[in-house]
Amino acid sequence: MARDFQVIIIGGGPVGVGLAVELGQRGIACALVERHMTPQRIPKGQNLTQRSMEHFHFWGIAEKLRSVRLLPDGYPIGGITAYSSLMSDYWFPYSDAPGARAGLQSYYYERNERLPQYLTEEVLRGRLSELPSITTYFGWSAESVTQNESGVRVEIAEVAGAGRETLEATYVVGCDGGRSLVREQAGIDRGGEDFDQRMVLVVFRSKALHEGLERFPERTTYRVVHPDLRGYWQFFGRVDVGEGWFFHAPVTKETTAHNYDFLGLVQEAAGFKFEATMDYVGFWDLRVAVAKRYRNGRASIAGDAAHTHPPYGGFGLNAGLEDITNLGWKLQANLEGWGGDALLDSYDLERRPVFEQTGEDMIAKGIESDREFLDRYNPQRDLAEFERAWKDFEAAANTRQGSYDPHYEGSPVVFGRPGYTPGIHSEPSFTAIPGHHLAPLSLSDGRNVFEALGQGFTLLALGADEASMKAIESAAAEAGVPLAVIRDSFDGGREAYGSRLVLVRPDQFVAWAGDRAPDDAPAVLRRATGSA
Ligand SMILES: Cc1cc2nc3c(=O)[nH]c(=O)nc-3n(C[C@H](O)[C@H](O)[C@H](O)COP(=O)(O)OP(=O)(O)OC[C@H]3O[C@@H](n4cnc5c(N)ncnc54)[C@H](O)[C@@H]3O)c2cc1C
Repeated sequence: MARDFQVIIIGGGPVGVGLAVELGQRGIACALVERHMTPQRIPKGQNLTQRSMEHFHFWGIAEKLRSVRLLPDGYPIGGITAYSSLMSDYWFPYSDAPGARAGLQSYYYERNERLPQYLTEEVLRGRLSELPSITTYFGWSAESVTQNESGVRVEIAEVAGAGRETLEATYVVGCDGGRSLVREQAGIDRGGEDFDQRMVLVVFRSKALHEGLERFPERTTYRVVHPDLRGYWQFFGRVDVGEGWFFHAPVTKETTAHNYDFLGLVQEAAGFKFEATMDYVGFWDLRVAVAKRYRNGRASIAGDAAHTHPPYGGFGLNAGLEDITNLGWKLQANLEGWGGDALLDSYDLERRPVFEQTGEDMIAKGIESDREFLDRYNPQRDLAEFERAWKDFEAAANTRQGSYDPHYEGSPVVFGRPGYTPGIHSEPSFTAIPGHHLAPLSLSDGRNVFEALGQGFTLLALGADEASMKAIESAAAEAGVPLAVIRDSFDGGREAYGSRLVLVRPDQFVAWAGDRAPDDAPAVLRRATGSA
């Protein structure tokens, strides 16, 4: 006998559990299948952007998440770049972690955060346990995924037992990481760049390293660029302040956990000898790989299943969380009949170009430009030339994320300006531009707009005429589209939105904006829900 659900989620890492929370809050019946009983205690995925923290706000766990952080309150999130080793004379603080860019904060409702991914996963799992529509299969592995016109079927097996079950649902989502079974069985290929470079991840504890870095301003990450490393980094990240560290660096293909002096490698990158206790050594391959499509029929993929890449810039988890926030309400809309197939198609059309550009323009180009700099300038060859170039290198590192603002303008389900296509190159703005993230402005009752947005669509009606408001409200009611209305005045700072009527999607991106409802208001709703 098969058990029946609306959505089966395969993979219960942060992205899979996040999707289960997103769908569980929407009352969708889901099965979540994860082979591990508990989150893997590897302190990766630490930097959460302001935008990612907005997801946690809507999941009701932003404060809980902040309460389990290991860094002291107010400890600055950001990095140091050093040439050759951390003891070098050439170093600078940098802010190219996503969300760390100066001036970005006012466009987001939440501050960025930093904590080990396993703690984030524990908080997400806690929220999951409160949602009755989710059935969890922790300790189970998905073995096959098939689909036909009416649904999907997933065979699962107990990892430490003999249990087997068949699950059926309308949709399946693979949040099952870089080696995704769902991606493979849905016949989705990947493209991208394989740098053919093995990387080591070392987790260790050392008070002496913490003390040895006291000459720097307080920071959470330290990257070493070295002429021998061909643009790849030796990278230290704090797990806490005082003792816990992770470190990743390129190594040769032959390196194993048993044939290499990892403490020696870490000391060489630090530039001094220190005592340390090694806790973990693991490996990953440096590649930027993006799936050729994010959906095939009833199967979609999200997170590392859709895009794998080095953690340079900390894009992975943050991008994965945005994937599921984009996908969750679209699945709900289709299951409840108020969204069309075009809405599901838009998941791929909106999210894939964002990651392709992130991979190419931010990660791969960053590696290439670091490599060019290190090949060309060397203090031993020409000190004066190197010192001049080092200043430019610092400036470039601090502006690399200059125009990083993912948007969906040009998506068929938003009313964007002609000539735009979804991507990452944009400047955040208070103006409500269709396809762009809504900026969080204050309401006259003292709340922020982000405290008043509904779970479905929201119409911001700011000094708008009654007839326009009613036209959109009744178009939504007729189409069964959930719509909350926020009425307020078009002043007090809210005029910065630039329009009196703003239709906001359930993922806080603007679908449409104008001063009056168009004559055919139902057409706005039809297009925004992919039902046209
Ligand atoms: C050193 C390091 C530092 C990083 N730093 C950052 C950072 O600062 N910011 C950031 O955004 N990202 C960072 N990342 C990337 C981030 O960790 C990943 O992007 C993130 O883990 C992706 O989450 P996921 O849920 O998509 O995949 P995963 O975390 O890989 O989870 C996939 C899950 O699926 C399960 N699974 C797989 N197949 C099956 C199956 N057949 N049946 C059942 N379960 C299955 C696995 O057990 C796993 O739990 C870093 C990564 C590394 C290695």
